[in-house]
Amino acid sequence: MPIEFSFTPDQDAFRAAARSFIQKEIAPVVVEMDEKEEFPAASVRRMQEEGYFGIPIPEAYGGLGLGKVGYCIFLEELGKVDASHGVIVGAHTSLAETPLLYYGTEDQKRRWLIPAARGEKLLAFSLTEPGSGSDSGAVRTLAEPRGEGWVLTGNKIYVSNGREAGTIVVLAANDVRLGPNGGVTAFVVDTDVAGFKVGRCEKKMGLHGTSTAELVLDHVELGPECVLGDVGKGFSVAMTSLDVGRVSLGAASLGGIESALHGSLEFSKSRTQFGQPISEYQAIQFKLADMAMRAQALRLLVYHAAAHQDRMGTDPTAWGRRERAEKTREASIVKCLASEWADEVIDEALQIHGGLGYIRGTPIERAYRDARISKIFEGTNEIQRLVISRDLIARGW
Ligand SMILES: Cc1cc2nc3c(=O)[nH]c(=O)nc-3n(C[C@H](O)[C@H](O)[C@H](O)COP(=O)(O)OP(=O)(O)OC[C@H]3O[C@@H](n4cnc5c(N)ncnc54)[C@H](O)[C@@H]3O)c2cc1C
Repeated sequence: MPIEFSFTPDQDAFRAAARSFIQKEIAPVVVEMDEKEEFPAASVRRMQEEGYFGIPIPEAYGGLGLGKVGYCIFLEELGKVDASHGVIVGAHTSLAETPLLYYGTEDQKRRWLIPAARGEKLLAFSLTEPGSGSDSGAVRTLAEPRGEGWVLTGNKIYVSNGREAGTIVVLAANDVRLGPNGGVTAFVVDTDVAGFKVGRCEKKMGLHGTSTAELVLDHVELGPECVLGDVGKGFSVAMTSLDVGRVSLGAASLGGIESALHGSLEFSKSRTQFGQPISEYQAIQFKLADMAMRAQALRLLVYHAAAHQDRMGTDPTAWGRRERAEKTREASIVKCLASEWADEVIDEALQIHGGLGYIRGTPIERAYRDARISKIFEGTNEIQRLVISRDLIARGW
């Protein structure tokens, strides 16, 4: 696998355009969004209009055609300013557009992917249930065959974008005895279908701009065209989406780290104690150095993994076992390191800011609350370590 990586002039131009868009349209709304705990509908609308809800989707399906590298560039830039917006884009793109692009039929792509990539419809992804979190193959939402179609019954929880989405990729059990090996199927569910209801929306420590919703599926009738991928193969569909999600989560964490580093540098040069800027103290200098080491290493990891996913293409039937396992291990490594480094760096940045870092409404205080979830969602870091170690034991280093 090649190690070299550099951005093309087009990718650099995309980053510059995204950065100025984010400064103009997103930065001004985040403090109020966080305080009011409101979904940022107007700035989401602007991102949709600019095509930012279809960055890695080919132009033929309504997207910008910029691949995973372009997508990570956007999430990195977004991560410098606000994590909630990143999660709204990520749940839609990584977790719901990916399965439509990789596993959807042409009809499904036309019906669901194109409007999503064009920004006409928001998507979500629903795997987690009250009894099935890390053990994600143990879903109990039932998918029962009826005629040519299916009837879905059960409760889902913790769905990002669940309150606002027009279409949701839902994982349900076609056979609970089989579990992940043949017993789970992915379905595309339009939220205006009879029997579908949004339940409780959680109050959270951070990510105040995102909804985290319960879904109630009460005998939701779906046609055969709503099955995404093969019946019984939904676990692979979900894992493919999570591989993309984990790398893009790494990009968002990278943005958070870079922003914490930048803020700490500025603050430490301007804050004077004992007659000199605190940046003159070695205790502070070493913290800054540790932050920079993490930022630089993570940048390489994220874009290496994103470029690898771009090279692999979007047809899972073309992947060999080894290639698939390498991609999954790499995504878990990126997710695990990125979320832990972001947590550590943001904590140290808060320390550098002293009491000010603890005051409600400062960027570092919000970043501290927002960052914590990254060690939990898209698979906890304990689960990432299981994935990595199992693959090491099976295939070696
Ligand atoms: C804000 C937010 C947004 C979310 N968005 C989505 C979404 O859009 N869609 C969706 O489907 N889900 C979503 N989730 C759910 C999220 O992915 C799960 O919370 C996560 O996978 C962990 O599951 P759990 O909460 O049930 O914890 P549990 O699985 O109950 O884990 C509890 C603890 O036990 C540990 N543990 C469990 N099994 C093992 C094991 N075998 N070995 C070692 N340790 C283990 C875990 O690592 C953890 O520390 C979201 C959650 C939150 C909080």
